[in-house]
Amino acid sequence: MKKEDIQAIKNLLATPKKIAIVPHRSPDGDAMGSSLAMYNYLIELNHEVTVVSPNQFPNFLAWLPASEKVLIYENDKENCADILRQAEIVFTLDFNALHRTGEMENVLNKLSATMIMIDHHQSPDGYAQYVYSDTKFGSTCEMIYNFIGFLGHKKYIDKNVATCIYSGIVTDTGSFRFSSTTSATHRVVADLIDLGVENSEVHNLIFNDNSFNRLQLLGRALQNMKVFPQYNTAYITLSQKELDEFHYEKGDTEGIVNYGLTIKGIHLAAIFIENKDEKIIKISFRSQGSFDVNQFAREYFSGGGHINAAGGKSNDSMEITLKKFEDLISKISI
Ligand code: 5GP
Ligand code: MN
Repeated sequence: MKKEDIQAIKNLLATPKKIAIVPHRSPDGDAMGSSLAMYNYLIELNHEVTVVSPNQFPNFLAWLPASEKVLIYENDKENCADILRQAEIVFTLDFNALHRTGEMENVLNKLSATMIMIDHHQSPDGYAQYVYSDTKFGSTCEMIYNFIGFLGHKKYIDKNVATCIYSGIVTDTGSFRFSSTTSATHRVVADLIDLGVENSEVHNLIFNDNSFNRLQLLGRALQNMKVFPQYNTAYITLSQKELDEFHYEKGDTEGIVNYGLTIKGIHLAAIFIENKDEKIIKISFRSQGSFDVNQFAREYFSGGGHINAAGGKSNDSMEITLKKFEDLISKISI
């Protein structure tokens, strides 16, 4: 971040302010971890802080410190819109385009608050006065650790703040195994453990949260996998009917897309999930190596993300969407 920006933010935070923190829609561990790390930190600085999530966050994050304080825009639109309108500062975390908040975009678009973006996705939009955006980072949470350090406030990273940061790092780096994990990431994590993070317990809380239904759904997803060795590609489908059969709950499909990449020689994995309510097929893409799924998702499936992890959607039926995808992978070099 620019020195002037850091100083300006420091000045802003020097007196108690009304602050709102916004993660992206369908927040993941990094979005919730960064939002709640920021919340717990700003509360220590005596600000009046509210985290407003566009929709419900998954259950496996419901133990994060102060997660019980998070307001859900979808459940309480008027109150949430009021809080956003009254905020003097709005942090937008783990996304860089306001449409990633869904319907909340209409409220965020009209705010007069100072907006601060902290994010690690490509191609940031220009809505924020202060921007800390860098695609080198594997997680927004690692950037939150740095951000608090830039402000000279490391002493405020207590066990709660550290636990939130750790949770976002561990989820967005695939437990430290993705290529975006650097020596700096491990140094940050070492520091977080020194600050009291119970790392083994956190893993337990995040990853050992399976229900029997979720495992059965995973089984079905794996049965549905189609592999195209000639195109180094594998994909999984889940229909709304299958989700219903296994009593799908938010978060149940998290991570399933990654199984495709565990097959030798597969460079591109995708999962297509039917959402009857929204009348879309939600798609996740993962790659290993140089195949850029952010570019692919942007160009063909109205989405985006990072080089090796991206998402998008299709308004066509599952059948037509899969046909389009199969057609594309047969023509593109993967
Ligand atoms: P996931 O597949 O886990 O939902 O998302 C992977 C990455 O792609 C995340 O960084 C997420 O923010 C991004 N992403 C997922 N869906 C979309 C989308 O519809 N649009 C854009 N721009 N990014 C997405
Ligand atoms: Mn992230």
